[in-house]
Amino acid sequence: MLIGAHVSTAGGLAKAVSRGEDLGCSSIQIFNQSPRAWKPSNYDQDAFDEFREAMADSGVQSVIIHAIYLINPATPDEELRAKSLASLTHALRVGDAIGATGVVLHPGARKDAELVPALARAGLLIGDAIADSENCPVLIEQMAGHKGILGLDFEEIEALTEAAGNVDRVGVCLDSCHLFAAGVDIRTAEGITAMVDEIEEKLGLDRLKALHINDSATEFGSRRDRHADLGQGEIGEDALALFLSEPRFEGLTATLETPGKDKKGASAEDVAFARELRERGLAARRS
Ligand SMILES: [Zn+2]
Ligand SMILES: [Zn+2]
Repeated sequence: MLIGAHVSTAGGLAKAVSRGEDLGCSSIQIFNQSPRAWKPSNYDQDAFDEFREAMADSGVQSVIIHAIYLINPATPDEELRAKSLASLTHALRVGDAIGATGVVLHPGARKDAELVPALARAGLLIGDAIADSENCPVLIEQMAGHKGILGLDFEEIEALTEAAGNVDRVGVCLDSCHLFAAGVDIRTAEGITAMVDEIEEKLGLDRLKALHINDSATEFGSRRDRHADLGQGEIGEDALALFLSEPRFEGLTATLETPGKDKKGASAEDVAFARELRERGLAARRS
């Protein structure tokens, strides 16, 4: 498992790699541009080369891009659809240029619109962005399901995948906080096994490409997405240890998106603590 954290690209793409190194990350996640604005960051080839060199010289083995929050693949609004498609396609092209493992995407909000057509609209947009880029996969993030946000369960993700054309480049990102808030019981090894079985059955394990490791500030099934530091929320250390040691998660990237003690994101101690929890989970599973 490649444990790491979300890091800033302030000062340039390659800076994210050195930040990851400072935190002891085996993998990093970045935003390809400011997550709350449409304006794209247009990197030149030098920036991409510099990034790839920094990766090659570091202990960071994988980079994930998180797409911006404004993208709404489910919207029926023509203008918002066009902007969303352009932005997702741009993120995928940056992903191609830096060799990213994938672009994590929130599959969108349907608001008051019907579920089934919204899933079809969102999947179609994902498929269009894939068709207009080279290799980088879209990783649909499983969501907490607040107020019509798509991606609550694996049936919805299956429908999104089908609407995107069932191509290999659609993958899945699991977030421990979102799962817990959505009411997926990840508090026991049996619960985690049942969830992974369901993914295997509905989507195929090959689609599972990335994990987000966060505790939850809100209770089980709350459908509210509030990340907490590991061991400081409702999921707790023991369940997170089991999540981090699930055998079929072996080899995946595992990104901390936790607030951190000083609200500046995960620290080196937090990354080290995630590794410790994983060891604890492995030991608990052996005994
Ligand atoms: Zn996310
Ligand atoms: Zn997440």
